[in-house]
Amino acid sequence: MYNPLSNKAEEFICDHEINNTIHYAREHKDNKQLIEEILEKAALCKGLTHREAALLLECDDRELNEKTFELAKEIKQKFYGNRIVMFAPLYLSNYCINGCVYCPYHAKNKTIHRRKLTQAEIRQEVIALQDMGHKRLALEAGEDPKNNPIEYILECINTIYSIKHKNGAIRRVNVNIAATTVENYKKLHEAGIGTYILFQETYNKQNYEALHPTGPKSNYAYHTEAMDRAMQGGIDDVGIGVLFGLETYLYDFIGLLMHAEHLEATYGVGPHTISVPRLCMADDINTDDFKNCVPDHIFHKIVAVLRIAVPYTGMIVSTRESQKSREKVLKLGISQISGGSRTTVGGYVENETESEHSAQFDVTDQRSLDDVVNWLLQLGYIPSFCTACYRAGRTGDRFMSLVKTGQIANCCSPNALITLKEYLEDYASDDTKAKGMAMIEKELEKIPNPTVKEHARDYLMKIEKGERDFRF
Ligand code: SF4
Ligand code: SF4
Repeated sequence: MYNPLSNKAEEFICDHEINNTIHYAREHKDNKQLIEEILEKAALCKGLTHREAALLLECDDRELNEKTFELAKEIKQKFYGNRIVMFAPLYLSNYCINGCVYCPYHAKNKTIHRRKLTQAEIRQEVIALQDMGHKRLALEAGEDPKNNPIEYILECINTIYSIKHKNGAIRRVNVNIAATTVENYKKLHEAGIGTYILFQETYNKQNYEALHPTGPKSNYAYHTEAMDRAMQGGIDDVGIGVLFGLETYLYDFIGLLMHAEHLEATYGVGPHTISVPRLCMADDINTDDFKNCVPDHIFHKIVAVLRIAVPYTGMIVSTRESQKSREKVLKLGISQISGGSRTTVGGYVENETESEHSAQFDVTDQRSLDDVVNWLLQLGYIPSFCTACYRAGRTGDRFMSLVKTGQIANCCSPNALITLKEYLEDYASDDTKAKGMAMIEKELEKIPNPTVKEHARDYLMKIEKGERDFRF
């Protein structure tokens, strides 16, 4: 029985309700009047239910789809402006006891080189990331209680926050590790993590069990209820996602929104971010073996309808996507991207070709961070290295209430400019610096509040003189 307030996975992600929603969406997809009404509701920027969103996704009327894309662009502009937050993944360990059939780290893969970073190696990786200009990381590790116990992850977090190299600093460490206990989530919270990220992979229980034949991750309920335990452990910024291509996209799209609705209904705060990875090639993994791979035009629509359905939730796309694909979805709703990523353990220090055989997935967008920043500036975006909210204690419902009242915009814009300025001073190539300085000048004038504008100008001058780490 479907119940968004239930603490049982099979009740808040109800298979029956998802199938009914799919049926509803297919039955009404030609009902133009109903779709127009949903678009009118969406334009109020208060979000949509999973049923309404599913109907928009299924609609195949060209004119109405155009309206959906236009609305997604408007909402993106309204809530996120032209800012794009930058981050990088850091792979700590590829030891894993699970059997996920779509991931080369699965326990049975004997061709992959298994490796776990020592604290000294983490230091080297973090210095390399700081020297690129990164301030925000997403930690990645396989599930292995012997090799990667929670104590190891906590020690890594501690090491990362402690490294201060030149003007570099990692100011926000997000963590993507396997579902764990409330007690361990409390420890992660106390270690000062930003977002706890865990992808559901697929919400279809039967398919989930087939894709995860062995290891602790095969427990669908334990995995699906992980965000509830994280919230109970005090982590109020959680990041959800599915791996599009494992299941039919409509099923997982609906499941994703039901998960968001459950978190909002139960804890008063929806997911902080939604990631939209698509299945891609890797060692031991061939996308031809999966029949649900999502084509570009559907992927674009998924991003657009998610933007409309959950306007307050940040959306992330990784270097799994090509430059062209990232350019397209940036317009439609993506607010965070990775740049200069390595998906191997030790990949930031080592030559990529040496370690590419052990990558979790093939990086399609292989440009350096400076190239990505330059490209964003050229497209009219402001690359932002901001981590202010987490450091000012603006997380969970405190963060969401600022977002919902629109007040966050008073922080995001000036923070984007001052963190971009830091990047330009410390790490950018000459061409990126010239483009970035022009962007800052232009955007500074657009800050509506004169006091904020004055402070921002002052911080920018201080950064030029060598001071660092200002925030609104
Ligand atoms: Fe292990 Fe995660 Fe890969 Fe599954 S997806 S095999 S849990 S690293
Ligand atoms: Fe994100 Fe907060 Fe910075 Fe805005 S001010 S970019 S919401 S961290």
